[in-house]
Amino acid sequence: MNSSPLVEIDPERYQVQIDLIYASADNLAGKVIYPSARCLLHRQAADCLAKASELARLAGYTLRIYDAYRPPFAQFLLWEALPNGDYVRDPHLGSHHSRGVAVDLTLIDSDGQPLDMGTGFDVMEEKSHPFYPDLPVQVQRNRLLLLGIMLASGFRAIDTEWRHYELPDADNYPLLEDNQTSFSSNSTT
Ligand SMILES: [Zn+2]
Repeated sequence: MNSSPLVEIDPERYQVQIDLIYASADNLAGKVIYPSARCLLHRQAADCLAKASELARLAGYTLRIYDAYRPPFAQFLLWEALPNGDYVRDPHLGSHHSRGVAVDLTLIDSDGQPLDMGTGFDVMEEKSHPFYPDLPVQVQRNRLLLLGIMLASGFRAIDTEWRHYELPDADNYPLLEDNQTSFSSNSTT
């Protein structure tokens, strides 16, 4: 055992769906960023996620996770592909995903369909800002529903992405290397 604070988000235990977009090439970077599809979070974020999942299910929805812990080497790969500081944090500053305390997610209805949030899950434009006004009323409601669930569970929102939530004191958590995980990054240093 080591002392890594990362815990694996098991879909059954947390009652969530996991669809890590950077574990396939179907993302804005257009390539596989993660060699493994394991979903990990800092245990404090994982506790909040468990609460969020419970609240979502009370309302008849399921959380679907698009991204969670992101190893620092993956942040560099992403930055290489998408060097836009509004949406991808400069890896030298350190992504909150690399601290294990940020999660990108949406809500799935009882028919298994994602709620209409107005943009795709990795769109990086003004329309992905959570309170962008020029979107249909139903999209606003869907976003506010996700916001309510996540705030009530201990996360905070950010200004640029409706899907991104993180712990309020995210900057206080250290960047975490991935030595506990099955990511094989030995050749990336
Ligand atoms: Zn994010």
